[in-house]
Amino acid sequence: MITIDGSEGEGGGQVLRYSAALSLLTGEPFTITNIRGGRAKPGLMRQHVTALEAACAIGGAECSGLAVGSSELTFRPGTVTPGEYHFAVGTAGSTGLVLQTVLVPLMLADKPSRLVIEGGTHAMAAPPFEFLQKTLLPVLERMGPKLSITLDRHGFYPRGGGRIVVDIEPAPLRVITCTDRGSFKAGKAEALVTGVPFDVADRELASARKVLAEWPEDAFASVQLPAELGPGNVLLVAAEFEHVTEVMSGFGKLGVPAERLAKTAAKRMTGYLASQAFAGPYLQDQLLLPFAMAGGGAFTTVKLSLHTRTAADLIERFTGRGFNFAESEGGAHLVEVR
Ligand code: ATP
Repeated sequence: MITIDGSEGEGGGQVLRYSAALSLLTGEPFTITNIRGGRAKPGLMRQHVTALEAACAIGGAECSGLAVGSSELTFRPGTVTPGEYHFAVGTAGSTGLVLQTVLVPLMLADKPSRLVIEGGTHAMAAPPFEFLQKTLLPVLERMGPKLSITLDRHGFYPRGGGRIVVDIEPAPLRVITCTDRGSFKAGKAEALVTGVPFDVADRELASARKVLAEWPEDAFASVQLPAELGPGNVLLVAAEFEHVTEVMSGFGKLGVPAERLAKTAAKRMTGYLASQAFAGPYLQDQLLLPFAMAGGGAFTTVKLSLHTRTAADLIERFTGRGFNFAESEGGAHLVEVR
């Protein structure tokens, strides 16, 4: 039984989700205390409960202490059973983070799975649909499994109600090296809006244009979504390279000016473009688990995040497999499975 202090490192929901995934992958039970102890409002939120329920469902696991507000739980894994599953967060909590909990165990199962996940698809502090589709899953596919994801319906904060469908055809994970992103092919900044003041998308795109001044005029576009999905506002900034596409995002929130949100997302992109790194600030922690399960591999990334340090520590505790981190060319960092 592994004991985790949920306030250590990043101290958020990621500690719990990675622990559950690692427990399913290694068969090692765990107890976690101080769940999300590093957050202003600690304890389990609805989305974390759904993520753990998903882990229990696919992994035949038993979990005690699983309730909204709970700050401690014990998880005992069973056998991972691939198949068709439907998980609903019930709030705008992230569908992508529920997927993050069960994806690697199902990528290594012995039969395909289909997951229907309902909740937020474009929620703050979580991977938006386009990041999963264009950034994360294509890298994972290079490791062997076949993965496809579709967006049935957008789900924004606070309403939720989005739906993604993910098909997973498992395969043993190949060791891959992602140190070269190749040449730049195209950039695109898209403001997805519904039920917000008419000029929001234009203001976001104007701000993004100032930061990404070298991108052509037609790289900036707004997309009006049907009113019943709203309110919703997200700016997606994508850069396509030969070997990877990175997607940075800014999420609209009451009280955050459109210009500020756009500038933050666009600057995140210029930081990535200026480096020679393969992985941006969010892809890095999400690659660690599949790379560790492949038993090797390396990638370059921008400045290491606390999410990455935290995930690496957890992976080492469950699997005994660690990572080497080193400075690399052009301001990038090399992450290598030890
Ligand atoms: P909490 O509410 O405790 O902060 P959480 O469950 O929402 O927790 P974190 O522990 O902060 O989540 O983990 C967030 C995960 O989402 C990390 O894996 C991070 O890389 C990823 N993530 C956050 N923002 C983005 C983004 N804009 N694009 C892609 N991935 C993202």
